[in-house]
Amino acid sequence: MRQALRELHERHAGDRGGAPADYIPELAKGDPDRFGLAIATAGGELFQAGDALAEFTIQSVSKAFAFCIAIEVIGRAAVLGRVGVEPSGDAFNAIVFDPRTNRPFNPMVNAGAITIAGLLHERFGDAAFPLLLDRMSQAAGQRLAVDEAVYRSELETGHRNRAIGHLLRNCGAITGPVDAILDIYFRQCAILVSAIDLAWMGATLAHIGEHPGTGRQVFDLGAVRDTLAVMFTCGMYDYSGGWAFNVGIPAKSGVGGGIVGVVNRQLGIGTFSPRLDAQGNSVRGIRVFEDLASDFGLHAFECLNQGSVFVTSLLR
Ligand code: GLN
Repeated sequence: MRQALRELHERHAGDRGGAPADYIPELAKGDPDRFGLAIATAGGELFQAGDALAEFTIQSVSKAFAFCIAIEVIGRAAVLGRVGVEPSGDAFNAIVFDPRTNRPFNPMVNAGAITIAGLLHERFGDAAFPLLLDRMSQAAGQRLAVDEAVYRSELETGHRNRAIGHLLRNCGAITGPVDAILDIYFRQCAILVSAIDLAWMGATLAHIGEHPGTGRQVFDLGAVRDTLAVMFTCGMYDYSGGWAFNVGIPAKSGVGGGIVGVVNRQLGIGTFSPRLDAQGNSVRGIRVFEDLASDFGLHAFECLNQGSVFVTSLLR
């Protein structure tokens, strides 16, 4: 695995396609050529290559974890009453709601994630962000911090998200003060992680909510299943269908250049490369996941991927 990651890193390091996000001014400042890979197994092993320790902001990757936490602490029915689980096929920052329900399509696009922040604010007020940070830190296996400069940069320039927030308030998907809710959302997006953190966070989901290194139960079992399902269908924005077809690994990407992938019961995969394609997904990240999925047979419907060990052990 170590060798494979090194080879993958070498194979794709020369790919300079795409460009870092610059609509959040602070995001454009990092070195665009950083490239880190990490894999954590459900058995607690870690493999890495390149800039696996380099830190970047988690951005939309946080949406998967915030949804997982919300399902547990707010309740599934209450969450699903405010946000759907349908792939929208729209861009991550689309100002489009489901015409039938007048609710955001899913929690992986901005409108849905801001709704999740709204639900957490309704229940926990100012304690909502510390709750998110605590749980995400437990999933990473170490204390995570917020990049204050990126947070402020988005707070000052995030007018589109502010517009989405007010529309959500207008249609009743959120009920609290828009600014306080956006503050949670902008902060959660500015949490600093490395490819290694993402690999552990993914491995915690893969290991049905228990961090494979610390042994701590971080997420609720049922919430993990719901989260992986939504990651599988909606995690890569308007490339989600192509991703499910070509890669077949539940995943979530962010405009900071990170992607987290989860091979159920087996692996957490974290990649970091800031150059993005037109859909806002990391160019090299996609290539690495495509190669990993095909080289190791990780696609969910790959005939060599045995899937749930519960079932295989029952059949034995
Ligand atoms: N904070 C970013 C935004 O709301 C997150 C988007 C993303 O990672 N796709 O625009």
